[in-house]
Amino acid sequence: MTQFTERDESLMTSKRKSTDQIELGKGDALLISDIQNDFLSGGRLAVPEGEQIIPVLNRYIGQFSHRQLPVFAIRDWHPANHCSFIQQGGPWPEHCVADSKGAEFSADLHLPVSALVISKGTDVEQDGYSGFTNRTFKEQLDNAGVRRLFIGGLATDYCVLNTVRDALSHHYKVVLLTDAIRAINVRRQDGENAINEMIQHGAIPVTLAMIK
Ligand SMILES: [Zn+2]
Repeated sequence: MTQFTERDESLMTSKRKSTDQIELGKGDALLISDIQNDFLSGGRLAVPEGEQIIPVLNRYIGQFSHRQLPVFAIRDWHPANHCSFIQQGGPWPEHCVADSKGAEFSADLHLPVSALVISKGTDVEQDGYSGFTNRTFKEQLDNAGVRRLFIGGLATDYCVLNTVRDALSHHYKVVLLTDAIRAINVRRQDGENAINEMIQHGAIPVTLAMIK
């Protein structure tokens, strides 16, 4: 009935591996992408069900804070004439303009005071989907001795995907928090395709219950 391809098989292998528990320790960091008002219900570019992951992310934050492991909060921080906006010929409605209410982190997200904020998309001409487009981000990770990144947030098919791609290409270990991501799904399968791509390229999918 279903065609069983090599691609499916490697995906299933990754999923099987993910049933193991993961112990947090030195070198681990939590990366939370774009939990900003404009990406949530009532915002200018709301990601479907985006707010549903906030309580889950808060539990991850608790796990990392408890162990004094670093938490990075990545945010879209665009100039008013950013190239990704429809008015400038880009694909998106205006969103997350620097210092606007829409660009603020959700008040429901319990970021620790020690959270390190990484702004991206700050250049007019750069889409800035990945946290690594912030030129100091990698340096901050390296200074903190980070080797393994636990990544969640919005949106699966854009900023999470591109941040994971870059993290893997910089040879970080990547753990994808599959219960703390949501997709925009411009095309219906975008989110699922993104998850498959990330896992195939080496991201390890986990859920909260697997963290110890
Ligand atoms: Zn943006």
